[in-house]
Amino acid sequence: MRYRLLGKTGLKVSVVGFGASPLGNVFQPVELTQCKQAVDAAVDGGINFFDVAPYYGHTLAEERLGDALLGKRQSVYLATKCGRYGVADFDFSRQRILTSVDESLRRLKTDWVDLLQAHDIEFGSARQIADETIPALQAIKSQGKARFIGITGYQLRMLATLAEPGTVDTVLSYCRSNLLVDDMDALLSPTAMRLDLGLINASPLHMGLLAPAEPPAWHPAPENVKQAARKIVALCESFGVSASQIALQRCVQHPYAATTLVGMATADQVEDNLNALQIEVDPVLFEKIQALATPVKNFVWASGLPENADYPRPEPSTESTQL
Ligand code: NAD
Repeated sequence: MRYRLLGKTGLKVSVVGFGASPLGNVFQPVELTQCKQAVDAAVDGGINFFDVAPYYGHTLAEERLGDALLGKRQSVYLATKCGRYGVADFDFSRQRILTSVDESLRRLKTDWVDLLQAHDIEFGSARQIADETIPALQAIKSQGKARFIGITGYQLRMLATLAEPGTVDTVLSYCRSNLLVDDMDALLSPTAMRLDLGLINASPLHMGLLAPAEPPAWHPAPENVKQAARKIVALCESFGVSASQIALQRCVQHPYAATTLVGMATADQVEDNLNALQIEVDPVLFEKIQALATPVKNFVWASGLPENADYPRPEPSTESTQL
């Protein structure tokens, strides 16, 4: 396993991080024993960064991760979130952020998290996130309940704007840098670089589209993106390799993202993803993958309040996404 500094936090995180949303049955049902085996395999394989949220499985993922990390808490970095509690249930108020962290700490069976992030900030008002949510996170940091604080979301412009004052340590972006999309670097403004923001890239498989299983019904990608992903998966199979390994391997090569969070629910998936760090990608295959991805490259979907969108939309929407 390789490790990189997460911005200026000083945390040396594994280049592959454990995304714990699948532990909340977000993609498909998993047993508690499978979750524990997955976490054990991840720690044994050198993964030291775990990301979860109250939203994943309506607190189930936090409960299960807390159980699975009993006796291991000191050897990992643990990140959770606040502000999002359901598909359309958001509360970024100071009071809710302050109570939320205590609830998470109870479920995670720990006295502190290494990173506390405001979850999917494009569903909140930019003013409230700046004036209320981030100051609440800072208060939690000064109490020692979170060592570092960050923001997460899908809309790059809002993430960049809210990170600009230098009041957060990390930014987590998802589904914006993988085989199907590559616009995450919009976050890397000269200010972000000067601030040495820790950048976390999530969803290397485009929330499961580049895995063999059928995507869940809630997946928000347009149909043509889903079809392109199916073709990429089938193409890789015909070459005797897995699309998920190629996708993950490409992501960990990003020059600035400290870690790539991949969602895992079984020890087999953990092993497969650890092996992805060793594979050599056939350039002929990679060219063919790119040919399939190019027609749908950078297709994005609606997420959050219309005023927080990256690009003007023909029809403003407050449609929610599952993650
Ligand atoms: P992902 O792209 O990592 O895909 C996860 C899916 O792929 C799951 O169904 C998983 O079981 C499957 N999978 C993983 N490895 C596999 C393998 N080797 N073989 C077959 N299937 C495999 O999507 P994700 O889980 O949404 O993203 C990763 C993590 O990033 C999340 O769990 C979460 O921690 C974080 N995240 C955060 C946000 C946010 O804060 N807004 C949004 C998205 C993701």
